[in-house]
Amino acid sequence: MRIARYTTGDDPAYGVVGGPDGDEIIATMVGDPLYVGVELTGEQVSLADARLLAPVIPRSKVVCIGRNYAAHVEELGHDIPEEPLVFLKPNTSVVGPHDPIVYPDQSNNVHFEGELAVVIGRICRDVPVERWKDVVLGYTVANDVTARDLQEKDGQWARAKGFDSFCPLGPWIETELDPADLTVTTELNGDVKQLGKTSLMLYDIATVIGYITSFMTLLPGDVILTGTPAGVGPMHPGDDVSVTVEGIGTLTSKVVSRD
Ligand code: MG
Repeated sequence: MRIARYTTGDDPAYGVVGGPDGDEIIATMVGDPLYVGVELTGEQVSLADARLLAPVIPRSKVVCIGRNYAAHVEELGHDIPEEPLVFLKPNTSVVGPHDPIVYPDQSNNVHFEGELAVVIGRICRDVPVERWKDVVLGYTVANDVTARDLQEKDGQWARAKGFDSFCPLGPWIETELDPADLTVTTELNGDVKQLGKTSLMLYDIATVIGYITSFMTLLPGDVILTGTPAGVGPMHPGDDVSVTVEGIGTLTSKVVSRD
């Protein structure tokens, strides 16, 4: 099932996306599926008549895993982490499909990082690795936008990773998917820049959920970014960046200057 959050001009609503490619319809839900489950109103809208929004606004946080693909660790000249490397992006960094990524004045080196994102479905702490699927609502696509110069300069990554618009999510949440071996592709202006497989993660999703919840509670609607494959690189105002995860869809953003 594909769960989308969308607007047709009124308040945001949730719905289930179905139908043939290019002619999809959205079956409207009664409310937020994280609160009330999936219940349909009986109304439908054409996907073409709707504007998709970020499929979830994280209830408390976006938890990110850094350096989770060996080839990406190598391209940045770092060592393989001995444990999952965890950092946070604020929920105010989240934007939806086709929302602009705003290039900040403070950086001269803003990079794309295409990633598989995990959407948490229930409150959880100390999740045993064999029960990780119990806490997952589904999966979406993310761009872990990063001001690479500020990341190196600041030490702490709050600014480099946390600007408004630095966490595009979408196009929807796919709830029925095996995330073990999916292709992750990032294109910049139509050129393929990243092409990885989730099977190459150093720490898999079960391990990551167990590790994160060993020290912090995850809430329904929190999002985990699972790390980026090799091939990261700079974006500039005017660029179009698209991240595709096999089995989910494509998340497209345009980079714009601040003014
Ligand atoms: Mg990343």
